[in-house]
Amino acid sequence: MVISAQLPTPRLGPHPDRPSYRTQTTPPHTPMRPHWFCRSCGQPWPCAQSRLLLKAEYERKLPTLSIYLAGLMYEAMQDLYHLNPHDGPSPRELFDRFVAWGPFRRAVVSGAK
Ligand SMILES: [Zn+2]
Repeated sequence: MVISAQLPTPRLGPHPDRPSYRTQTTPPHTPMRPHWFCRSCGQPWPCAQSRLLLKAEYERKLPTLSIYLAGLMYEAMQDLYHLNPHDGPSPRELFDRFVAWGPFRRAVVSGAK
């Protein structure tokens, strides 16, 4: 029996529409694909403002924020490695950028006791 034939096809990652905070006058701090720059401030997404907004928006559902960020890292890897197959950011750089700043990061290891 081939189990893999019974597994569902993985769905696409989350739609990058958060933080959901909007104003009438400026674009939201959401990523522009496929380059993953903030559409409001032009910084690599998630920019400082989007991190603040995401932390506030997901304050009571931090596991959901981690899942969202990990899903977007996966999406960004597909976009950025397709655009820059040889000189794109490293997986470690993308992990730090998308996931490591969020909740459940590992505590800083102190020096020898
Ligand atoms: Zn921004």
